[in-house]
Amino acid sequence: MKPPLLLHSHLSFCHTAKHLAPIPTMVSETSQSKNVCVIGAGPSGLVAARELRKEGHKVVVVEQNHDVGGQWLYEPSVQGEDPLGRNAFLKVHSSVYESLRLTSPREIMGFTDFPFLVKKGRDMRRFPSHKELLMYLKDFCEFFGLREMIRFNTRVEYVGMLDYGVCSNDLKWVVRSKEKKSEKVVEEVFDAVVVATGHYSQPRLPSIKGMDTWKRKQMHSHIYRTPEPFRNEVVVVVGNSLSGQDISIELVEVAKEVHMSSRSLNISEGLSKVISKHTTFHLHPQIDTLHEDGRVTFMDGSCILADSILYCTGYSYAFPFLDTKGMVVVDDDRVGPLYEHTFPPSLAPSLSFIGIPRKILGFPFFESQAIWIAQLLSGKKVLPSWEEMMKSIKEFYQSREAAGIPKHCTHEIANFEYCDEYGDNVGFPRIEEWRKQLCISAIINAHVNLETYRDSWDDDELLQEALQSPHFTQLGLEDSHM
Ligand SMILES: Cc1cc2nc3c(=O)[nH]c(=O)nc-3n(C[C@H](O)[C@H](O)[C@H](O)COP(=O)(O)OP(=O)(O)OC[C@H]3O[C@@H](n4cnc5c(N)ncnc54)[C@H](O)[C@@H]3O)c2cc1C
Repeated sequence: MKPPLLLHSHLSFCHTAKHLAPIPTMVSETSQSKNVCVIGAGPSGLVAARELRKEGHKVVVVEQNHDVGGQWLYEPSVQGEDPLGRNAFLKVHSSVYESLRLTSPREIMGFTDFPFLVKKGRDMRRFPSHKELLMYLKDFCEFFGLREMIRFNTRVEYVGMLDYGVCSNDLKWVVRSKEKKSEKVVEEVFDAVVVATGHYSQPRLPSIKGMDTWKRKQMHSHIYRTPEPFRNEVVVVVGNSLSGQDISIELVEVAKEVHMSSRSLNISEGLSKVISKHTTFHLHPQIDTLHEDGRVTFMDGSCILADSILYCTGYSYAFPFLDTKGMVVVDDDRVGPLYEHTFPPSLAPSLSFIGIPRKILGFPFFESQAIWIAQLLSGKKVLPSWEEMMKSIKEFYQSREAAGIPKHCTHEIANFEYCDEYGDNVGFPRIEEWRKQLCISAIINAHVNLETYRDSWDDDELLQEALQSPHFTQLGLEDSHM
């Protein structure tokens, strides 16, 4: 099935590798409706679909899984997945483990017009289980009638430019997808593609001497689900990020010993408290060598005999379906060039990315990205020139370099002001003061009270202020109370 090709466009492109800059033509005064393919029905894809439709576009969301939710659609079975996730196309998308509870309090997570309310009969905790966030996303879908736009069980295998190499007035995209059960392959042409495929699935693995010849168990946290398979084992957990900490805390209850290997021994007060409580929980520097006989030697010369290695070393950006002829590349976890982490200057706005930034208040930020993309596609807004976008990207890279921030952290924002200024492009509301303050207080609490921060806090006053704000009262739903 080929959707009708629309002839309107406000930019024309010369698609040759040598001429990456778009050639601006006339900007239409009237609002244009585009045929848009959104890839992924996680939080980013869902809010993108809603905003695109609101702006008058025709939207198809292609989702490889059987339901909405993205990372939050828990997948208990990881059979068939490579334990280190070394396949280009992974079988399992979600990296969520059974016991996972949110690391951010629910009240700061919601989309601006759809608060993450407490619902009777459900998980009413401030830091609920991952299942509750999935319910929230399903409610969001129901409330805005988004399901009808989604084609489930269909994986996008290829996205590329139509008529690449031919100078035309209109850039279009070929999207090839495969339905899981029937294996039917469909090729369609769209005016625009929004990539919303997430980036917490593809394992980012360290390079350790002996890793390839290690004969015992080793896996990445992407396929970790429960501590049970590690009962009575000596486990080395590599990395002390959020998942490394969370998983170690539950492993220490069943494993014989847990050895956390960390780049820095300068750990948080919270983690240090947990380690000192358990005689079987040890902290080590980085691993030097993994030996075939099961010995693990650390950089300080110490050595243990281990049964398993669990890499909690984070995730990489990967777009195995995307062919941009080198106009967007992933280099050491920098996806670029991307203007404002969203638009490849040579291909935008017909190609865009939602959800690339890390260390932000995710859902509202995705929402502002979606609005900007929708308004660019309709012609209501226009991007700066190619030269200006490239200059801005270059300056951003230089400023990060000057601040000593490594390339693989390019998309780590950790800055409320950035998000506010980003939203200003489309008149998106600035982050409420209570949202910022609750976010900060949760981070501080987790830092000091790692084991208890999800159940005990001292920001009740702020919480009450939040709950009385228009964000929480706007829907006036009767079955919800906080
Ligand atoms: C263990 C863990 C804990 C987390 N905890 C928090 C937290 O407490 N708070 C928070 O805000 N965030 C947390 N996150 C981050 C979380 O990823 C985001 O909240 C959010 O899910 C990102 O949404 P997304 O839509 O961008 O990506 P995803 O949720 O990853 O959704 C992407 C979707 O794209 C689909 N897809 C991918 N490739 C294709 C393809 N080729 N064809 C078709 N469909 C495709 C996937 O199936 C998926 O449905 C956590 C992540 C992990 C892994």
